[in-house]
Amino acid sequence: MKTVRDYIRTIPDFPHEGIMFRDVTTLFGDARGFRMAIDQLLHPYAGTPIDKVVGLEARGFILGGAIAHQMSVGFVPIRKKGKLPGKTVEQAYQLEYGEAVMELHDDALQPGEKVLLVDDLLATGGTAEAGIRLIERLGAQVTGCAFVIDLPELGGARRLQNLGMQVHSLCA
Ligand code: IMP
Repeated sequence: MKTVRDYIRTIPDFPHEGIMFRDVTTLFGDARGFRMAIDQLLHPYAGTPIDKVVGLEARGFILGGAIAHQMSVGFVPIRKKGKLPGKTVEQAYQLEYGEAVMELHDDALQPGEKVLLVDDLLATGGTAEAGIRLIERLGAQVTGCAFVIDLPELGGARRLQNLGMQVHSLCA
């Protein structure tokens, strides 16, 4: 039987030379693969109270929307700076080259709400950490962080665990 990993392709030298890009569009585009990924991402949270799913731009929106629908909770986007129309909180984070800023609407989460943070891939953990900081800035609580792919050699899972996070991923 095919696993989630089997639906993901690796594209060499994208977006630049030397990078092996994990392309999840082939997973999302396959009915069985996509359902399998959503079911497996949801699995550890059965019976766990979650108030909102927060997705990281952009592939975290696709996964997070499906997960939120399945959990019957709301979905909240964290976006790159300048995309959200309302009042936001901001968090800068390190990229491979330089820095970027992410934003969250300042009224998207209520204090004490329990949040599941979702993205396609965990590498250094810088993006997810910025997301966690934004969520916590609004007084909400990150119950779990779920990813399709974790690249363990880049240390993201350890980094998030050191922040006290529960990390769930489907494949390396
Ligand atoms: P990090 O901040 O180093 O953990 O990088 C994770 C972020 O970069 C996530 O938002 C991913 O979507 C994106 N990313 C990095 N490498 C890849 C890849 O190979 N495929 C898909 N997304 C990637």
